[in-house]
Amino acid sequence: MAFLSSSKEQEILPVVALRDGIVFPSTENVLIFGRPKSLRVLEFLDKTKKDKVVLVMQKDSKVDDPKPEDLYSIGVVARIVKKIKGERGELHVLVRGEKRIKIEKFVSTEPFFWAEIKELEDKVEQDKEVEALIRVLSNNLKKSINLGKPIDFNFLVNILNITTPLTFSYNVAMVLDIKPQERQQLLEIDSLKERLKKEVEFLNKELELLELEREITEKTRQKFERGVKESFLREKKRIIEEQLGERRGEREIDEYKNKIKKAGMPKEVEKKALKELNRLAKMSPYNPEASYIRTYLDWLIELPWNKKDEVEVDIKKAKKILDEDHYGLKKIKERILEYIAVMKLKKEKEKKLQKEKKTKKKREKDYQPTILCFVGPPGVGKTSLGKSIAKALGRKFVKMSLGGIRDEAEIRGHRRTYVGALPGRIIQGIKEAGSKNPVFMLDEIDKIGRDYRGDPSAALLEALDPEQNHSFVDHYLDVPFDLSDVLFITTANILDTIPPALLDRLEIIHFPGYTEDEKFHIAKRHLIPKQLKSHALEDYKVRLTDKAIQTIIRRYTREAGVRELERQIASVMRKVARRIVENGRVKEIVVSSRNISKYLGPFKYSEQMIEDKDNIGISTGLAWTQAGGDILFIEVAVMPGKGNLTLTGQLGDVMKESCQAALSYIRSRWDIFGLKKDFFSELDIHVHVPEGAVPKDGPSAGIAITVAMLSALTKIPVRRDVGMTGEITLRGRVLEIGGVKEKVIAAHRAGIKKVIMPKNNKKDLEDIPKYVLKDIKFVFIDHLDEVWKETLRLDIKAKKDKKELPRAFLYKGKLPN
Ligand code: ADP
Repeated sequence: MAFLSSSKEQEILPVVALRDGIVFPSTENVLIFGRPKSLRVLEFLDKTKKDKVVLVMQKDSKVDDPKPEDLYSIGVVARIVKKIKGERGELHVLVRGEKRIKIEKFVSTEPFFWAEIKELEDKVEQDKEVEALIRVLSNNLKKSINLGKPIDFNFLVNILNITTPLTFSYNVAMVLDIKPQERQQLLEIDSLKERLKKEVEFLNKELELLELEREITEKTRQKFERGVKESFLREKKRIIEEQLGERRGEREIDEYKNKIKKAGMPKEVEKKALKELNRLAKMSPYNPEASYIRTYLDWLIELPWNKKDEVEVDIKKAKKILDEDHYGLKKIKERILEYIAVMKLKKEKEKKLQKEKKTKKKREKDYQPTILCFVGPPGVGKTSLGKSIAKALGRKFVKMSLGGIRDEAEIRGHRRTYVGALPGRIIQGIKEAGSKNPVFMLDEIDKIGRDYRGDPSAALLEALDPEQNHSFVDHYLDVPFDLSDVLFITTANILDTIPPALLDRLEIIHFPGYTEDEKFHIAKRHLIPKQLKSHALEDYKVRLTDKAIQTIIRRYTREAGVRELERQIASVMRKVARRIVENGRVKEIVVSSRNISKYLGPFKYSEQMIEDKDNIGISTGLAWTQAGGDILFIEVAVMPGKGNLTLTGQLGDVMKESCQAALSYIRSRWDIFGLKKDFFSELDIHVHVPEGAVPKDGPSAGIAITVAMLSALTKIPVRRDVGMTGEITLRGRVLEIGGVKEKVIAAHRAGIKKVIMPKNNKKDLEDIPKYVLKDIKFVFIDHLDEVWKETLRLDIKAKKDKKELPRAFLYKGKLPN
């Protein structure tokens, strides 16, 4: 047979089919030859003292005896460098690739393939882009090695020292972690640049995966270390026990068996537990898995499979408990009592149905228990009300925070195959409660996230959904647990971020935050007695005067709830305790508004009070913030310029839009206000809202901004004792706003005598305490025209009738009274 080249490019050579590996020119690789056809090629080369062979890949690696059409037509000519015989007769062969070739035709297929081949030309571009691609590849290779890509160090040094771009591209193709077909793709590319580009793409993908992998490993590592430590300690304990002559084994297994029988598990769970116990009994004591099985059994044994706290619910008693523990919150308490009443009726009906032997499944279809969601700022009593509900129902209370959870496994547990696996938070909470019907508070459901590790809210929904939760399967337990008796209460600070599917199932109860007056009573009735007790001061005469409490509320806290207030009171108590201990017998300690700074240091918040005189260009707005109500001053200055509107201070987007609307409104009514037609082209207007402690936004500053602007333009001062709130439209209509209660109380505190607000907000006055309403006059408006009289003492209607317009812009005469 002709084994010599027939022409310079065309050669006839023996061919070996490779299942999934390939070498590139200028690279080396160890391939395993095991199939008879391949071994026959090697034998032939040995005999003829040749070493040149064509390597081509199969299109499908699973084909055992490929035909020519099963092979790719582009491959490599390689030389055999070294061979080592393996244990099962296969040969490990070190080959070195030489050049890329194309198989023109097969000249024979037995006893192995012979093919006529043609060498393929490489297109080698030499430009800046090629240089850049090489640099990117080198850098990314180093980066991937840092992230744990397994490359032999010598190999890397070789790659990075390679001088010709073509060799570089071949070598990189060898180390990429890609599919065989992708590697073939690289081999088939003629252009160097195109190959490099494709390689950059593959390497980037690999890098992304490596980064993700590292993140996951980091997380599991911590859990793993915990698991290893535990099993190490157990092992140590076991050895000590053995040395003490105690025999582990049968005794332990017996104990477990007893506990399993006593745990009150459902039949199928007990079966599973006994099966695991059986595995444990057979296991060598040195097997690390034994400790995992023990942990698992401990979990199963300790869960309250049929432990319930049952107390006959008495609505009157429940009301008493809620009232004793909480001041105010009237509507909320009523809603909760209704909820408890419905629950009681449902239970009675359920008992009846059970007597009639209706199945549990049917029952659940009939009744869909509601899941309560308490929404409100921190410290408004959501948790403590939850505790009171548990107390009123005679049930256990547990709380789990869901803030920041992104991994579904946090809710539903990790599978046991996962090192350091644990049940999810729901099952952990149930174990903590030690009862299968606790009041279970899921805190901060508005702060659940989601990412590639699954959607925790979906898992949560499954736990909460009465249709499914009678057989909730935690991944770790791997057996169903009945959650249908649990009373879930969720809490959130805001509604916007709760996943919609979850929100749909919740009954929202809003906690609006407390007024100063309510805070005062909460402090007096609840927080102070509680803190006296927890600082062991009940037997001493410690008194906080009413004024002192007020001062703490006003000058040391700024919040919607009472958490900071409680902390400040605790801080006073600590200092009082120290004084008592240091000074021996102190008869009485009085904390008053005068000596409070001795306890709490200088005031933390200044009190916003109204200005001491009427000013041009300054109006008083009423704002609602997370911390309750506040007054804010809007300042407007006008100066010669070119028609610019500048906005500064802590203004949100909505407030900026209000400024634009106010300006447009005034410009469109220039004649009524006695301004020059094109006044805005000659001046600049600057609106500023001093920062204060909290960022402010919302449309309700509309009126106040317009008033300050018109005052600045007409030079008429604004009445200092008028506070205002209301959204405006371009045509001057005044629209309804929110937070009236908080705003009015803040206005009262600041000394405002008159409040202007939208007509549609009249209904909101009913929630405001009487002592506040008594001191304030309210003006309800639905158009800006009605504002000028109250704020600038400017009766537009009267002036218009008399054709006498107010002073024009830049009026320098005497100001009106
Ligand atoms: P949240 O869960 O809403 O953040 P907490 O329930 O933890 O708030 O309340 C903070 C503190 O304020 C607790 O000590 C709680 O007892 C107390 N508290 C809140 N509201 C009231 C209230 N209406 N009456 C009595 N104490 C209250």
